[in-house]
Amino acid sequence: MELLSPVDTIKGVGEKTTKLLNKLGVYTIEDILLFFPRTYLIYPETTKPNNDAVGSLISIEGRLKSSPRVFKSRNRMDILSATVYVEDISVDLVWFNSNYIKNTFEPGKNYIFYGRLMYDGGHYKISQPVVFTKEKYEEVKKQLLPIYHLTKGLSNNLVTKAVKTAFEGCKLSDGRLPDEIESRNSFIPYSKAVYTYHFPESYDELLKARKRIAYEEMFFFILNSRLQENNVASLPNDFCISHHNETEDFMASLPFSLTNDQLSVLSDIRSDLMGDYISQRLIQGDVGSGKTIIAFLAMLDVALSGYQSAIMAPTEVLAKQHYLSFTNWVKESGLDIPVALFTGSMKVSEKKAMQKLVDENPNCMIIGTHALISEGREFGDLALVITDEQHRFGVQQRDKLSNKGNNPHIIVMSATPIPRTLAMILYGNMHVSAIKELPANRLPIKTCVIKESMRATAYKFVSDEIAKNHQVYIICPLVEASETTEAQNVTDYGKKLKEYFKEQYSIGILHGKMKPAEKNQIMEQFANHEIDILVSTTVVEVGVNVPNATVMMIENADRFGLAALHQLRGRVGRGDAQSYCILMNGNANDKQSDRLNIMLKSNDGFLIAREDLKLRGPGDMFGVRQSGEFSFRVADIYQDADELEMAAKDVDEIIKADPYLENHPKLRSTLNLFLTNQFYVL
Ligand code: ADP
Ligand code: MG
Repeated sequence: MELLSPVDTIKGVGEKTTKLLNKLGVYTIEDILLFFPRTYLIYPETTKPNNDAVGSLISIEGRLKSSPRVFKSRNRMDILSATVYVEDISVDLVWFNSNYIKNTFEPGKNYIFYGRLMYDGGHYKISQPVVFTKEKYEEVKKQLLPIYHLTKGLSNNLVTKAVKTAFEGCKLSDGRLPDEIESRNSFIPYSKAVYTYHFPESYDELLKARKRIAYEEMFFFILNSRLQENNVASLPNDFCISHHNETEDFMASLPFSLTNDQLSVLSDIRSDLMGDYISQRLIQGDVGSGKTIIAFLAMLDVALSGYQSAIMAPTEVLAKQHYLSFTNWVKESGLDIPVALFTGSMKVSEKKAMQKLVDENPNCMIIGTHALISEGREFGDLALVITDEQHRFGVQQRDKLSNKGNNPHIIVMSATPIPRTLAMILYGNMHVSAIKELPANRLPIKTCVIKESMRATAYKFVSDEIAKNHQVYIICPLVEASETTEAQNVTDYGKKLKEYFKEQYSIGILHGKMKPAEKNQIMEQFANHEIDILVSTTVVEVGVNVPNATVMMIENADRFGLAALHQLRGRVGRGDAQSYCILMNGNANDKQSDRLNIMLKSNDGFLIAREDLKLRGPGDMFGVRQSGEFSFRVADIYQDADELEMAAKDVDEIIKADPYLENHPKLRSTLNLFLTNQFYVL
């Protein structure tokens, strides 16, 4: 078994499992070794059942009242039922088609039962509890069991086994970092860290493994960006770009005036474009701060100066949306500037027509997804390249786009709130501008956290908003039903909602597994108000702008990082009307509620991310990631800020002594591997 062998070379992984693993992006042995758990199951201390625990996973210790009874359900399923007493409190237990469990119990002995506590018809109840003897429970309680991302038909047990078997047959290479770094930081070997990340024996061990992997990811990320900078530092700016009265006139004709922050960013960009050197600038602006119009204005100056420019968006939906805005704006300005669009799902003939537009117009504005870089397309005279929602792209993709032209100016736009110091590390010598202020017409979004019992009220509210001609997003964590969690999924939810509202509203469904063309169509229908309620996964998190939508309802809100919730909330409140964010938190315990309550207190993305981190105990660090920045598998720039700083220092030291890594051949080759392995997050 080699690292690059396909997963079906693992014993016990057949054709069916291979297909399912492929669906999760796991193709090779290396992929599966680096397919890290999403969280860990830690069996809790036993507790006494109580109302606060309803909805949570708990363990209870008790004695069966009498031996379990077996009966058949209406659909011929065997049901095993028993009642257990925890001191004076009784809990009903049921199992389906699991009659063998009956023989587990010795009379008069205590057992531990693990499962989700429910309250039903005046009784506590647990369905399908896992049963342990006391001795066995003491043992499992110490372990952290990996929980993986799954897809329908793939069980957690199967993945766990496959990962274990892969480790038996294959070893990751150690020593990818220079020896002095390994020893200075007393790192555990890489391969051991990866194994431990899957199967930690203690929490401390897991933390160490995580830090090590995070360090390594960030080390190579920073190393790459520093090398890139070396290549582009101080290139002379031979473009002749100036600002034009037409741009000024267009700004004056907009239905709104730009905020001071927007104006100051625009003036930063203009001096970059006219400066002596080719520039690189990061524009940070919280969701809804109005970055798109700034991109357009910059590209307008470039077009009026007779050059081409391109903007790359991470999803087709977003690229399409930019295309619509840009074509509208150009039309309103009365200028004759062609706009071209390239996305993966376009027909060949459409792409040809667009390419012709580009070839024939030296002042063309180009918009696209990563289709801009992945299809061998050539653009002659790019003077400016903009990456929107930059964190969704790998470094390499950003660089590839710049390579299309003749060293164009570069702007990256990001809604990820990163403190300046971290931004300087991650973006090296890029200049940073920020848009802090939101447009003046915005009413603050009203946010609430509600429990399952309020669902009917929430739906009534949704109806009322639709009656006012507004639109609604409802976000679910999953695409389809899953065997390991009870979280809402888009597919079933959409059906249920149609029934609930008796087909009164037009309801659309959107998720990442749909074909791009389907996604575009749904998004377009939503933008055109042919859809009232859009039930979606977090694919709408990135950049989408439908100002008529006023409600963002998020199911199982506790399963999302606050940074992601903040991004989702930013999809509403984009017009003049009052907007609302409803966080549905059915199974909340107090700590989860505290976390969500941060969303009530602030609209500031950075503050939210920081508070979130403060509130989490070490045990919560794993489940939810702050946000999917920079395509890291493990690292998180907030949680691992210390490692980030360390890595930056180490990289700078190496680069200073050896700017082109001539004395570090191993590092060079690992870096190349690292770059090809970078995956594209969508
Ligand atoms: P983001 O920064 O999240 O990318 P967008 O560029 O999508 O935000 O802008 C959100 C909405 O705000 C758009 O409908 C845009 O036209 C509008 N907008 C942008 N600037 C202003 C402004 N200064 N005043 C009012 N509305 C604005
Ligand atoms: Mg945007």
